[in-house]
Amino acid sequence: MAQILCEDVVLGYEGKAVVQNLNFEVNQGDYLCIVGENGSGKSTLIKALLRLKNPMSGMIRMGDGLEADGIGYLPQQTIVQKDFPASVQEIVLSGCLGRFGWRPFYGKAEKDMAEGNMEKLGITHLAKRCYRELSGGQQQRVLLARALCATRYMLLLDEPVSGLDPAAVQEMYDLLEKLNHEDRITIIMVSHDIHAAVTYADHILHISEEPLFFGTKEDYIKSGIGRAYLSVTGGGRHA
Ligand code: ADP
Repeated sequence: MAQILCEDVVLGYEGKAVVQNLNFEVNQGDYLCIVGENGSGKSTLIKALLRLKNPMSGMIRMGDGLEADGIGYLPQQTIVQKDFPASVQEIVLSGCLGRFGWRPFYGKAEKDMAEGNMEKLGITHLAKRCYRELSGGQQQRVLLARALCATRYMLLLDEPVSGLDPAAVQEMYDLLEKLNHEDRITIIMVSHDIHAAVTYADHILHISEEPLFFGTKEDYIKSGIGRAYLSVTGGGRHA
């Protein structure tokens, strides 16, 4: 079975639907970008995938070893997070909480995992530094290392490059590509950057009132909705 199978899902608030007819699946090693206008329901879908919100109807099923608490989630950066007064090491370690269960002290397994993920993301030298003193790109690497502590299977990222400078944006995309290719970690990313989406992702879910699109990147680029969205947002330079 797929890691995520979404069948005829309707999402909304207080009895009013926001997204309807959601049908898609995500398999291990996929790289899915979720795109769509502001207010189309992307964050609502993220909440549903994390089981923070129930569908009004339809089913979201998880399989292939995945459970909702086994998804490594990288939330959108907020001002509060940017000012968080903890060390890099503490923040990365906190990603282990869900996976190993709550204990009064972190054990060796958690520390090893945090160290391994800091090394993987090239932030070992920042371990003792205070999170809020880091650059935006470094902060995202820390949050990515934290998310990796929570999962072996899947990263769910909400606008992970917003607010970063171009070099840090590229760095982030390269890191995600590496995790996807080398470690076969499934990537699901909400993104405003349609050009990056059609460059890096293999599948696209475009949420809009109707019709939605779900399929391969190649089919998206050829589809009416894909062509329209790519041209409105500045032409299909990666298409
Ligand atoms: P996106 O992430 O694509 O910008 P959202 O999922 O945040 O879209 O929002 C989709 C729609 O749901 C919007 O019309 C928004 O106003 C509405 N909405 C979001 N959160 C709530 C909430 N907690 N209660 C009621 N309506 C909400």
